[in-house]
Amino acid sequence: MEAVASDGADAATADEPEEIGPEQLLGFLPCSGRGCREETGLPCAYVDRRDRCCPTAWCPTHRVVHRGDVYCPVHGLMLGASEDLFTDHHRADLDNIVPLVVNWAARELEASVSALMHQICDEYGQTLVADPVRFVLVGVDRIRTWERAWKMCAHVGVTLRLHIAVEESSTGVVLGKVNSKVAVSLPPPPTDLRERAEDPTIPETGEVRDFRAALLDGLTAAVISWRAGHPPAHADAQARHRRGTTPWLSGSPVRPGGPLQPLPGSPISRPA
Ligand SMILES: [Zn+2]
Ligand SMILES: [Zn+2]
Repeated sequence: MEAVASDGADAATADEPEEIGPEQLLGFLPCSGRGCREETGLPCAYVDRRDRCCPTAWCPTHRVVHRGDVYCPVHGLMLGASEDLFTDHHRADLDNIVPLVVNWAARELEASVSALMHQICDEYGQTLVADPVRFVLVGVDRIRTWERAWKMCAHVGVTLRLHIAVEESSTGVVLGKVNSKVAVSLPPPPTDLRERAEDPTIPETGEVRDFRAALLDGLTAAVISWRAGHPPAHADAQARHRRGTTPWLSGSPVRPGGPLQPLPGSPISRPA
């Protein structure tokens, strides 16, 4: 690519039309967003490993833009979460909603897992690090897994790690892991999962509350048990570490408590 002076105030571009990026570019397809009536959709650019195209289209409000292409929330998230590992060879099948399920479960647990981890980080005087949803190959069997992690980190490295994970071969089970051991596993609520994952504004049901409570109970029990074997080294650790000042370190713009994790330049949260 040739060098272009993009910051020069005297660049002769004043009369040229402003370039419209993929975020704002208007199409003419009905938007696939739930309840959206826009007919400004562009098709999702995802093509799976069997050369099947994603059949959805998305208006500027509901689309995800990844590396200059328009995607649906599922595929935008999938590509964003697996950027470093993905090749065409690895491209997940069109109907793979595992990343969406992980993202939904992580979103449901975000507030309570963050609170739990903040509490324990305060106690140990260590730092909380939240990772975005990622695609990983787990163990010697390289099990294809999508997961989100919350980690307590000291200077020497990670001391405690919580995961919400789903394996591609067991899509009906959400795993809660503590230090890579499965602490709890349970099926996600069967109804409306895809709709729920795409739209955080859908009111929760008792089923969703039960799922969240069971997953949190399992994780909490495992953390308590870990804590019993690894008591804080310094009784005054808590005093040295004021709550609320822990920086959220992450390689991606993930924020605790947010809707579907935003990808760069991707306004994927829904208007109320
Ligand atoms: Zn829309
Ligand atoms: Zn798609």
